[in-house]
Amino acid sequence: SNEWAVMPSRHCSMSVEGRSDPSMLRHLTSKITATGPITVAEYMREVLTNPVSGYYVKNDMLGADGDFITSPEISQIFGELIGVWCVSEWMAAGKPKALQLVELGPGRGSLTSDILRVFRQLQSALNGAAVSIHLVEVSPKLSQVQAECLTGERTQVCVSDKEAVYHTGTSHTGLPIAWYRRVEDIPKGFSIFLAHEFFDALPIHKFQRTDKGWREVMVDIDPEEPEKLRFVVFPAPTLASTTLIQADDKREHVEVCPEGGVIVQNLANRIVEDGGAALIADYGHDGTKMDTFRGFRGHKLHDVLLAPGTADLTADVDFSYLRRMAGGDVVCLGPITQRTFLKNMGIDTRLQVLLRNCHDASTRAQLIQSYDMLTNLEKMGQRFQFFSLLSRSRLAEPQEEGEGLKRRKKGRVPLPVAGFSELGLQ
Ligand code: SAH
Repeated sequence: SNEWAVMPSRHCSMSVEGRSDPSMLRHLTSKITATGPITVAEYMREVLTNPVSGYYVKNDMLGADGDFITSPEISQIFGELIGVWCVSEWMAAGKPKALQLVELGPGRGSLTSDILRVFRQLQSALNGAAVSIHLVEVSPKLSQVQAECLTGERTQVCVSDKEAVYHTGTSHTGLPIAWYRRVEDIPKGFSIFLAHEFFDALPIHKFQRTDKGWREVMVDIDPEEPEKLRFVVFPAPTLASTTLIQADDKREHVEVCPEGGVIVQNLANRIVEDGGAALIADYGHDGTKMDTFRGFRGHKLHDVLLAPGTADLTADVDFSYLRRMAGGDVVCLGPITQRTFLKNMGIDTRLQVLLRNCHDASTRAQLIQSYDMLTNLEKMGQRFQFFSLLSRSRLAEPQEEGEGLKRRKKGRVPLPVAGFSELGLQ
């Protein structure tokens, strides 16, 4: 069957539109003139997701002609292995009758598309479970790209802007798909949540240690050049500077993403109440890095304050913060490197299978090159990290039926979790 075959290359993105758009800068400077310097979080939110001229709202920025390229766009193997992870977690949960596959920030839809191919291939293992797809996306432009990728013709755009579900469709494999703007809008039920390069796009606050205590970094107009923005350290404490920093933090400069914290709390609550698991993959650190806010335009670093709205803005994900916000009612695994996760998931075997079935020299070279891009520690293998939230029931002792089953030691021990298997719990 062609489901395990090599898929056509994706490197054929549309060109990025709206490159020199002064309206975003005007919008920001008039806002700052009216009410004073804005927080970095507000700056990031406006630049990325302002409903009229936000970077994510207007552009398809992914791919070779865009501003950055992501793992699911680089190789189909990435999504296939995550698809196997989803099925594995669903099985470990006792094969619930309904499975919601939820992706936050699906970009061009490639990850979910590769997962759905795996679901079809593993149909008999999925045992007739009712699978539904739920996508959380703020960008109307990207939701269109996703619909084209996942549904072809079979899609319906909802009329009302206020509806929680703003778009519905049916996948090529016959599964229902729904689009939402916010995580809160996703229906309840056993869910596997995926977020790849999603948390890094959420707004961060920036703080600077001073002799008077923590102060928030804000964005202001440069007094010498009214068309230019600059960072300033706010002289007085702000709500964020007094509430978001841990008392024992030793760093000079700290970035916190409260919106990411709220979303992780929401996922954790859902996993506790309805069962399921979350897999979060992003570049990030474990509460050690200081200044990671940066811009990308045309695959190059770009000054975050220059020509706002024409470049992607991003900050490394602080996994220690996500773990703290997830709370103790779920189990957190990781972060581990992308290389370790993909190796644990069997990327080497998968590559060999694809190579065995592929006789075109350039496609073979491309498979090997993309494998190297994903796993090489100098490339994406180290910088990208995998982190998971799991239900506490994943800690329960295995049932001791059957005589041959090896008895486990007393106490609650972790069951093997695909991709993370050799790890201890945190
Ligand atoms: N996961 C994809 C795309 C990453 S880009 C990939 O790895 O290729 C970030 C994605 O998150 C985009 O789809 C963007 O539109 C979406 N996004 C950014 N901020 C968001 C927010 N606040 N709420 C929902 N989606 C958001």
